Amino acid sequence: MPTAPGLTAVRFSNAPGLEATTDPATGVCTVGSALWRRLSALERYFLLLHETAHQVLQTGDERACDAYALAQYRRRFPRDVWPTYTLLTHVLDASDPVHAARLQQHLTNLL
Ligand SMILES: [Zn+2]
Repeated sequence: MPTAPGLTAVRFSNAPGLEATTDPATGVCTVGSALWRRLSALERYFLLLHETAHQVLQTGDERACDAYALAQYRRRFPRDVWPTYTLLTHVLDASDPVHAARLQQHLTNLL
């Protein structure tokens, strides 16, 4: 399947439970409106970097995308990385072992 090189557009949806997803063929990212409204500007930035990472790396590996997005984020805001973690706390359920491991990995990457 052809893959767009990055995000080509960001759209918003009121679909229940939607957080963010990107169509790999078109690069169109769709973000849940309810989530977007809850996020700070820097959390939004990290979310879009994460979605871009799926396109650039051509992978569904969430941890790889978190790490790639964090590296990009750090170039711009090296002293304000905490929003990258709080964004994940908005979309992950710490009682889910897979999600908890992803949160722990991100904390490790922050140090
Ligand atoms: Zn993802």
